[in-house]
Amino acid sequence: MNRAVFLDRDGILNVDRGYTFRISDLLVPDGVPESLARLKSNGFKLVVITNQSGVARGKFSMADVSDFHDALQAEIVRRGGPVFDLIKICPHHPDGQVIPFNVACQCRKPGPQLIEEACSALAIDPGISFMVGDKWSDVLCGVRAGTTPILVLEPQGPSHKSSRGLRYELPDDARFETVVDSSGRKITVASSTGTGAVEVYSSLSSVVSRILELSP
Ligand SMILES: [Mg+2]
Ligand SMILES: [Zn+2]
Repeated sequence: MNRAVFLDRDGILNVDRGYTFRISDLLVPDGVPESLARLKSNGFKLVVITNQSGVARGKFSMADVSDFHDALQAEIVRRGGPVFDLIKICPHHPDGQVIPFNVACQCRKPGPQLIEEACSALAIDPGISFMVGDKWSDVLCGVRAGTTPILVLEPQGPSHKSSRGLRYELPDDARFETVVDSSGRKITVASSTGTGAVEVYSSLSSVVSRILELSP
């Protein structure tokens, strides 16, 4: 069985501008291509798991999403990064207007379906895999799919500068605390009854260092 890192897109791989789809809005933060290359060279499959409800809402089309992904992939490769093994998209939202995407689907995060499909397609064992995202829905998705979730709490982008609680959709009982791990190092975790303690980092590169420690 393979191991994988499942990656949220907006706010992790590219700056989240809110319904990001224009190629002119594509900005891949420093360190992202290198971080992905480290994961790939350590044997992790790289799978993007992204909600794009802008399709259901009529803000952009599936062709726009596809074009954006082509540009994202090209930019990462141009800067020395790897090719993604798979990109999984949920284009749905029940509040949308565009048929057939305006439905309450099973694949929208925090549902685990997109991760489960990727695991089947690429023979991935979720138990030795990680889900990296910048919203609590990513964390929940990762937990429900049986992966280890990691939250990136200070991703790049103007839309992340608003209050922590709103932006990250934290559950009411979520608490941030600092714990000390077995080697005496301080680690920030976000805890809730639904998920237990989830480690929190401020960049994809520090997440990758941690993943490589946890699964050498
Ligand atoms: Mg995100
Ligand atoms: Zn969906």
